[in-house]
Amino acid sequence: MTIKCLLVNPWIYDFAAYNFWARPLGLLKVAEFLTQFNMKLFFIDCCDSYKIKKYGTGKYKAEVIEKPEILKKIPRKYKKYGISSSEFIEKIKSIKNVDLIFVTSIMSYWWYGVKEAINILREKFKDTPIILGGIYATLYKEHAEKNIDVDFVYEGQVDERLVEVIETLGLKPEKINKKQKYWWQMNFYSEMKYAPLLTSTGCPFRCPYCASSLLSKSFEQSNINEIIDEIEGLYGLGIRDFAFYDDALLYKAESHIKPLLKKIIEKNMKTRFHTPNGLHARFIDRELAYLMKKAGFKTIRLSLETVNIKRQIETGGKVTNEELERAVKYLKEAGFLPNEIGVYIMYGLPGQSLEEVKAGVEFLKKLRVRIHLTEFSPIKGTYYWQEFVKTGIISDDLDPILTNNSIFSEIFAGYSKEELKKLKLDVNNFNLLL
Ligand code: SF4
Repeated sequence: MTIKCLLVNPWIYDFAAYNFWARPLGLLKVAEFLTQFNMKLFFIDCCDSYKIKKYGTGKYKAEVIEKPEILKKIPRKYKKYGISSSEFIEKIKSIKNVDLIFVTSIMSYWWYGVKEAINILREKFKDTPIILGGIYATLYKEHAEKNIDVDFVYEGQVDERLVEVIETLGLKPEKINKKQKYWWQMNFYSEMKYAPLLTSTGCPFRCPYCASSLLSKSFEQSNINEIIDEIEGLYGLGIRDFAFYDDALLYKAESHIKPLLKKIIEKNMKTRFHTPNGLHARFIDRELAYLMKKAGFKTIRLSLETVNIKRQIETGGKVTNEELERAVKYLKEAGFLPNEIGVYIMYGLPGQSLEEVKAGVEFLKKLRVRIHLTEFSPIKGTYYWQEFVKTGIISDDLDPILTNNSIFSEIFAGYSKEELKKLKLDVNNFNLLL
């Protein structure tokens, strides 16, 4: 008997959102995994509604919604990004009935969007089991079990455990295919301007503010030929823009990214690559910078986070100022323009003064690169989360909605709003002149 499964990516609920090559890759990996079994798949991405701009990025369609009570005092508009609720209801109506539903969750502070999607699904598919997975489900299993009406909260990456869960829900998945299909072979999206690529899972570093090791227990890199097959398949569909989702794309560069880029260059594909996740500057040498240029990297983001040496060491030592300077030098020598090289620095880290953030901005101005200020917000389960709890800044049962990086630093970092605004303006003006 064929099991009919519906996979859903709920809306983003936030003060601001922009589609920088975002796809629900975890859910798409679930879909790929399920193609081995006697299943028919249906797919709804509530966020698949945006106006395409440069390189496939775009502005989401959005509607202003009422803020939950807990956000009432924040003087900003709260929005739901993606398709409307009525469009969602139309889509699920057209599916008639299903045997099983998977819902993903990405940022923990979007959990109200997850809850809304599940309430609608429950109403339409009364007795159908629902499994919730994804990042919020993994980091906040108990919270999700308590606050969202689902049959099972699944933690971590998709693997054979999922089959056991499906069986406990009374269904009988049978393996009928040895090989999984790729998600993009299933025509889930009517228009694909870009594709996400994941060439490795996890990260060998353990930065105290990062959830990477909580979401993937080990660091593994995929086989180069398999990655090439995937890129070629997508390229054959007309896709030219690819966004790497890896946490440590450049790690072990000699056996991973360098041979991969050499093959792409050999094949003479006209690809454009983007790295919305920060890259490790440490691993960029002259050869790698050259290969990146030749293979078509267009959007580069490097992670610095802070210019303060003591804090760099305390936060895991993934990069030094000298390593960043050297990487920028090699990238520029390879032909990248200043505005193609972006560097992330954070503000709002525990104990971080605004002076430290300003020093980081000045450092990057001298390097003549795009500056990306990112707000810190603590992630449950990380070392910094524990520190915040221990020092009484937050409580362990803080509503995940308050970990929204657009508001966390405003509420908890203690910076002068005026000073921060001035700094952001200064950074914007600098970036515009690059
Ligand atoms: S290097 Fe990046 S991905 Fe890895 S643990 Fe640190 S912040 Fe996370």
